Amino acid sequence: MAKKGSVSSPARAAGGMGALLSSFQHARAHGLAADWHTFLKANQGDGFDCPGCAWPEPKKPSSFEFCENGVKAITHEATTRRADRAFFAAHSVSDLRARDHYWLEQQGRLTEPMRYNNRTDHYEPIGWDEAFQKIGKILRTLDSPDEAVFYTSGRTSNEAAFLYQLFGRMYGTNNFPDCSNMCHESSGVALGESIGIGKGTVTIEDFEKADAVFVFGQNPGTNHPRMLTELQKAAKRGCRIVSFNPLKEAALLRFTHPQHAVATALGSSTRISSHYYQPIIGGDLAAIKGMIKRLLELEEERGGVLDQAFIDQHTQGWLAVRDDARAAKWDDLVANSGLSKQQICEAADIYAGAERVIVCWAMGLTQQKQAVGTLQTLVNLLLMRGNIGRPGAGACPVRGHSNVQGDRTMGIIEKPKPAFLKALGQTFDFKPPEHEGHNTVEAIKAIDKGRALFLMSMGGNFAAATPDTAFTEAALAKLEMTVHVSTKLNRGHLVIGNESLILPCLGRTERDQQAGGLQQVTVEDSMSMVHASRGHREPASPQLRSEPAIIAGIAAATLKSDVDWAALVADYDRIRDKIAAVIPAFADFNQRIKQPGGFYLGNSARDRAWTTGAGKALFKVHPLPANECDANQLRLMTMRSHDQFNTTIYGLDDRYRGIRGKRMVVFLNREDMAERSLKAGTEVDLISQGRDGKKRRAQGFEVVPYDIPRGCAAAYFPETNVLVPIDSYAARSYTPTSKFIPVWVERR
Ligand code: SF4
Repeated sequence: MAKKGSVSSPARAAGGMGALLSSFQHARAHGLAADWHTFLKANQGDGFDCPGCAWPEPKKPSSFEFCENGVKAITHEATTRRADRAFFAAHSVSDLRARDHYWLEQQGRLTEPMRYNNRTDHYEPIGWDEAFQKIGKILRTLDSPDEAVFYTSGRTSNEAAFLYQLFGRMYGTNNFPDCSNMCHESSGVALGESIGIGKGTVTIEDFEKADAVFVFGQNPGTNHPRMLTELQKAAKRGCRIVSFNPLKEAALLRFTHPQHAVATALGSSTRISSHYYQPIIGGDLAAIKGMIKRLLELEEERGGVLDQAFIDQHTQGWLAVRDDARAAKWDDLVANSGLSKQQICEAADIYAGAERVIVCWAMGLTQQKQAVGTLQTLVNLLLMRGNIGRPGAGACPVRGHSNVQGDRTMGIIEKPKPAFLKALGQTFDFKPPEHEGHNTVEAIKAIDKGRALFLMSMGGNFAAATPDTAFTEAALAKLEMTVHVSTKLNRGHLVIGNESLILPCLGRTERDQQAGGLQQVTVEDSMSMVHASRGHREPASPQLRSEPAIIAGIAAATLKSDVDWAALVADYDRIRDKIAAVIPAFADFNQRIKQPGGFYLGNSARDRAWTTGAGKALFKVHPLPANECDANQLRLMTMRSHDQFNTTIYGLDDRYRGIRGKRMVVFLNREDMAERSLKAGTEVDLISQGRDGKKRRAQGFEVVPYDIPRGCAAAYFPETNVLVPIDSYAARSYTPTSKFIPVWVERR
């Protein structure tokens, strides 16, 4: 049978005409080709925040302050397609379960609340009040508030997230897993411990001052495309861009800004990375420790490499890191990193030669067993030369979801700080629970064991985004009730326990009319800028409700409390006043949010005010990670295609990697293929094994030869999430190891 789609050589550059054409095709397919007004409102002071990633807006946004993947995110939210009652009448849940993620995404916007009827196997309409009463009844009948889990995806606004945590804590639990558990949790744990705050220390303006930008385990071309604007400007003014990524990503090689008409017409592009290193998957810690070792050698050779004054005044633990790096053997560093000594030293020399350095990273570092250790070793590198708390320098974890950082700031966390709980209790006159709740991995295990019976998801696609798909779906089927607050249909809606409700909410692009008038919400980007977002489009259906209104409806139907939920959602200024009362950094919130572009939350480490237990920035020693693979296994990294945002599949192309019209592909090194007698196009299964000894199998992947180091492989999620065992997560952060899964490759 002829294979679907095609495979060609990867793109030489990102952006350009391809980005314009793809944007137009997606907009046209969803009936928005002529609706430029909507796109021109994206990321504008009087507009809405793009529901895509969390890359910040420049102080003076351009009129077209959006990228190709922003167009896809907006298009799929503003689509003219509808998954309405007629659609659900035509498709049983069993039928929908047989569909793939791409097909489900194409069905369009949900239009009214739906309840699963297990006698007809169909979702059927239900009224809002009846839905709220049903949820309230279930919650009131649980034996313990900890039998309920309240999950949040990073699209949830600050106002909704604050109300959500208030409701859950007044109900009596801290079970607030969120999508950052699966992405930058390792960054939060590592930075929190090393520099006293779990957030990046740079602002977008720092990119204009840096002499070098190091990019580790990140593919900005797909996941944070407007970052390329800053990298292109930096590269043009001579800033060295140094990339570490097992895969050669087009956007880190060359970029044509689609809004530069001449360059796009001529197809001329800017070289982005001055240096590109392909460590083996899991090899970053060794590479960074090697750079530290080289810097020490340079210090001995010529001095003036270390910022000794900074080290003495602002840090603790340097000598242990120094001695550990000195003791490290180059052979071990080379073998463990997959890079040559010459490459590691070259990268270190660039670092030593740059006065101001920004280090960026994403999932390639955070979704590995040794993630926290790798990130703290990266902080060691920054501290050695005082590259934190100076213009043009610092740590930059780039977040992938528009308000994932804001949700955490609003209290969406299973381990809330005592000061936050105290202020919350005083503001709302109740005693919040203090015991730790469940993060995502723990929540899945609690559901599997029947210790959690209720799961509510604010956005997201829990069943598909989480690890160990077969295990997780089997666990979810044991739930008494699942409640999904969503804009579009996804796999999560089809994994049903006893009861399931879908509550459709307004999108970012849509007008949010409440009793007190038109409302705006706020979000916090990767660089701690808080700004407003106002929708202007007519809602996709008159029956949609805003996220805050849905939470208020459920809370009023569940709790007997003095909180006037209806008044809070009538005017979100009232919610922001409460946020200001509970979180000091948001003092005078409603005034400050009126500033064009919003306001900066500040960052203690950026001010060199180290809020660690020691009152200093901490150097941390971490050993080289052990090789988890047996001789026949490859190190698999899961990743997004270019037509994808998290588990949302916009299209079947991955233009930059040469893939058209398919997703079931696995990228392999040619020598690894030869060793296994595999050819391009051969169909294989991927098999992993957890600590439980159980094998997990993902079937039917087409082999694609690719520029990836020996012993490494790459394939898309969510199709490969089945291979990530529930017990395989980063130490201390519980972030699933989606970027390092030992697998066997078996010909079908
Ligand atoms: S860079 Fe991110 S936030 Fe900006 S337009 Fe693109 S997807 Fe949206």
